[in-house]
Amino acid sequence: MAVVVCCRSDYPLIHMETTLQHVLAAATAQRRTFAIISHPDAGKTTLTEKLLLYSGLIRTAGMVRGRKGGKVTASDWMGMEQERGISITASAMQFPYKDAVINLLDTPGHQDFSEDTYRTLTAADSAIMVIDAAKGVEAQTRKLFTVCRMRKIPVLTLINKMDLPGRQPLDLMTEVEQALDIQASAVNWPIGSGSDFVGIVNREDGHVRLFGRTAPGGASKVTVSELMLAELGASGRVSQDTLMQLEHDLELLEIAGNQFARERFLQGLVTPVFFASALTNFGIESFLDAFVDLAPAPGSRLADLETGGEISVDPIEAPFSAYVFKLQANMNPKHRDSTAFLRICSGRFERDMVVKHHRLDREIRLSRPHSMVAQERSRIEEAFPGDIIGIINPGIFSIGDTISVSGGFNFKPLPQFQPEIFARVRPSDVGKRKTFDKGMAQMAQEGTVQIMRSLNDGDQLVAAVGRLQFDVLQYRLRHEYRVETILDPLPYTCSAWLEGDPATFKAPSASMLVKDQRDRVVVLFGDTLMKTIGRDRNPEHILRDMG
Ligand code: GDP
Repeated sequence: MAVVVCCRSDYPLIHMETTLQHVLAAATAQRRTFAIISHPDAGKTTLTEKLLLYSGLIRTAGMVRGRKGGKVTASDWMGMEQERGISITASAMQFPYKDAVINLLDTPGHQDFSEDTYRTLTAADSAIMVIDAAKGVEAQTRKLFTVCRMRKIPVLTLINKMDLPGRQPLDLMTEVEQALDIQASAVNWPIGSGSDFVGIVNREDGHVRLFGRTAPGGASKVTVSELMLAELGASGRVSQDTLMQLEHDLELLEIAGNQFARERFLQGLVTPVFFASALTNFGIESFLDAFVDLAPAPGSRLADLETGGEISVDPIEAPFSAYVFKLQANMNPKHRDSTAFLRICSGRFERDMVVKHHRLDREIRLSRPHSMVAQERSRIEEAFPGDIIGIINPGIFSIGDTISVSGGFNFKPLPQFQPEIFARVRPSDVGKRKTFDKGMAQMAQEGTVQIMRSLNDGDQLVAAVGRLQFDVLQYRLRHEYRVETILDPLPYTCSAWLEGDPATFKAPSASMLVKDQRDRVVVLFGDTLMKTIGRDRNPEHILRDMG
């Protein structure tokens, strides 16, 4: 009798737990958390908009418009972004696409970029690299790709603007391989180009999609007729020349092209390549389908145990854990507060849950969480691995902080990137020194800029990876702290962290030794030649490019 009672009372509990575990596993498998990397103007905003169009979230494209017409993207927050019509800070959007739940991390689309861009990539499980078919691999794409490679983030390549006259597809493939030192494997191939770009063929199964007319600017989904490659000649849609070019390219790819294997893609060894036009929607839907298929769901993340050693935190097996990858103050004038953006690494998040803040070694309640869809803040009740949540930050979060239910570990520290521009900043009104110092401390904590101090005289200077960070610093000091500042640029263009005794370091001319916020010694150089000389002259020391 007792046994029966025991079973009866146990059963619902066990059942509930397995159901929760099941929900967590299913939600995790659905998640695709990614960022788009591209050079400005390659089509990131347009592609984002088409994602929303094909997800059904917007019915007509044109709501999230490019900056050309002076309109701003939906993720623009700060007044400065609106004044300039550029998206500076990285945010995240969540929306469903077919069976998947997409978390799109928004990376700044301006020429200049900042450490925020880099840090945002650490929260992504994959990246889409958008390349302009006429321009090929451009500078900013190259930099962002390097970060993906370092973080072992798999990258899909979308060659965009195929509706405009561009370079030969085979040329573009070669350029991707050579400029980025990765194997490129074409998944589909364009049929015609420029105004003759009429369709794509899937290389694996010879399935052809021919596109119909679309509303101006691809405002609505494009109609597609499907056939097999062998039927293309008889379709009457392509010229003999186009057909011959296509057969020639496909044959060459067959002989010399790289085979695609998902395993190798996940290891970052090969990038699948797709051709499309985000403007006309040609090839966009099949690209998105392939993306959802190929891109990884959230996986395990490495962490350092507080007792020494490492653990791998499994998104489903481990209880709730997350880390802060971005801090932002005053995102919305109506809510003058700071928000910490967390990427969930494991377990199920519930509103009001109490978790351990590992660095502060105390418990905190996660109340008022929100997710971001464009300018709206929507309250969230629960979230899963791969999701990004914004938590009101009463000054307790720093970049890289880990929180979890269990405690005892810290996710690997986020890399610091080598600053390339440096300046001295001071308040124009010396009477505002105290407020200025307070503002600077806050900006440094949020990672807007890095603060460094001269090893000689302790003089303070600011460092950043992009010029825009200085503009943001001055703007925020003016608007949030009412302090006008004077910025004197310093003549250094690169830097490196120094390992070894700074007293015995033979500094080349026009260089300077400073300490960063974590008290590590950094050498600032006038140019890369001086850095090379610095390395050559000091074989006993190590100059590291990333901290
Ligand atoms: P972003 O800077 O990467 O976000 O680029 P945008 O999406 O704002 O695009 C830059 C410009 O290129 C805009 O004028 C777009 O309309 C245009 N554009 C984007 N994709 C395409 C495309 O596939 N074909 C053509 N013809 N224009 C495009």
